[in-house]
Amino acid sequence: MMANIKASTILLKKSAGARQIRGEMFGKTKMTNNAYCALGLLACRGGMIKTESDFDNIGEPEIRMKFGLTYGDVAHKCPTGDGFGDRDIICLIIHLNDGHKWSFKQIGEWLKSIGK
Ligand SMILES: [Zn+2]
Repeated sequence: MMANIKASTILLKKSAGARQIRGEMFGKTKMTNNAYCALGLLACRGGMIKTESDFDNIGEPEIRMKFGLTYGDVAHKCPTGDGFGDRDIICLIIHLNDGHKWSFKQIGEWLKSIGK
């Protein structure tokens, strides 16, 4: 499935008014009161969900598919150079959001640099 909008576009241009949550999500994209992790922002501002209750039905597989966030067989390294790497860009987004506390803008700029 082709992505009709890039993940970097959401993070860079559609994050107005959103408070960022880092490391409090326990693997879920659920959020309240305009507070999101990077994946939650993608799900919500990317038009995948309309109400907060819909978050229960959206997870990493759906976000990965919508935005094409995989490298296939090639592992990509964390842009900070700490050695973390994964074939799945979703894992790197979570790593940057929660581990490095990167802002939406920082994550968006990185995704843009890799064409996502
Ligand atoms: Zn890292």
